[in-house]
Amino acid sequence: MRSLQDELSELERHSLRRELRWVDSEQDREILLDGQRVVNFASNDYLGLASHPGIGSAMKDAVDEWGAGSSASRLITGSMSPHRDLEKSIAKMKGCEAALSFSTGYAASVATVGGLVGKGDTVILDKLVHASLIDGAHLSGATVRVFPHNGMGKLERLLDGSVRGSERVLVVTESVFSMDGDVALLEEIISLKNKYGAMLLVDEAHGLGVYGESGLGLVEHLGCGEDVDIHMGTLGKAAGVAGGYIAGSQAIMDLVMNKGRAFIYSTAPPPAQAVAATKALEILTSTEGGERRKLLWDNLEKLTSMFSSTRTLTPASAIIPWMVGEVDAAVQLSNKLLEQGVFVPAIRYPTVPRGTARLRITVTANHTEDDLARLAQELGGYERY
Ligand SMILES: *Cc1c(COP(=O)(O)O)cnc(C)c1O
Repeated sequence: MRSLQDELSELERHSLRRELRWVDSEQDREILLDGQRVVNFASNDYLGLASHPGIGSAMKDAVDEWGAGSSASRLITGSMSPHRDLEKSIAKMKGCEAALSFSTGYAASVATVGGLVGKGDTVILDKLVHASLIDGAHLSGATVRVFPHNGMGKLERLLDGSVRGSERVLVVTESVFSMDGDVALLEEIISLKNKYGAMLLVDEAHGLGVYGESGLGLVEHLGCGEDVDIHMGTLGKAAGVAGGYIAGSQAIMDLVMNKGRAFIYSTAPPPAQAVAATKALEILTSTEGGERRKLLWDNLEKLTSMFSSTRTLTPASAIIPWMVGEVDAAVQLSNKLLEQGVFVPAIRYPTVPRGTARLRITVTANHTEDDLARLAQELGGYERY
């Protein structure tokens, strides 16, 4: 038998061993990371809502009113008024019949894919979708098919080959891709899924708060909500709290709550989490949310204008991949920046394919011009990447 230590040493040898870094401050544009003050270009808190006082105080009040825990799973006695309020407000915002909330986005992925498809069905994934969706697909027992990132020709061939032999076909994509920051070809995907009568799940984990007139995501921006069967997202990124959600028809919610094991066999999230998330969505879709969204996009434009020639295009989202290639080089570059008080994490296999290690820069509404200038200056010497 191979020892645990051998396996850890092997990870270490390939620069693939990860360790926890501890943050001893509130989450914001600047954090205290392992004792060092650093400008934070690693967070998914795109609008700066994690430290929003109004959301924090809603959460505190909710603890006074509802206590700390939910004490049981959602199907027993864990469904409380705050969960109902959250789900009603999500359904209303998304213009859907119903919504369902989860402890995390990860649980939303696994429960939803597992609830909607199983043996005899097919699930078709974009190659770059998040690990939680891949796990959900494999756990579901459905036949799993993968198309190259945004590869519409292959998607059509897979649809064509699946529809006759399967009882149900589910196509899964993200709106904004989490490690590349680019967007799905949603309109093309929709026309294909309609042509073949498949269902479509769109994960807006990195679209929520960033795209759309009221910040609801890329689907709102494109105005194609009617053609999306399952709107999915997390409440832990731009919404600044924690949790996951889906919105769609009542039948979809009913099936997921009856068959999604990650929903059924798990204690309901704390009521205060649901209250805080409801408040966060209210702010995210308000005028204030719109102002924060504008600051975010202004910051993205400013940062790219500070990069020299080859990288001047405004990115498609708050995520900018700084491609490096080899793991060691990416880790070294990240460490060099950290020495200068700028934190940009190196992303490596298995989060991204081998040979595509990168720094993942995330910009938020709260970054100052000085923060951006420091990052651009530190990266300036590495244009060749
Ligand atoms: C982060 C993420 C999730 C998981 O959401 P959590 O709330 O963090 O569990 C799901 N899908 C995508 C695309 C993500 O980036």
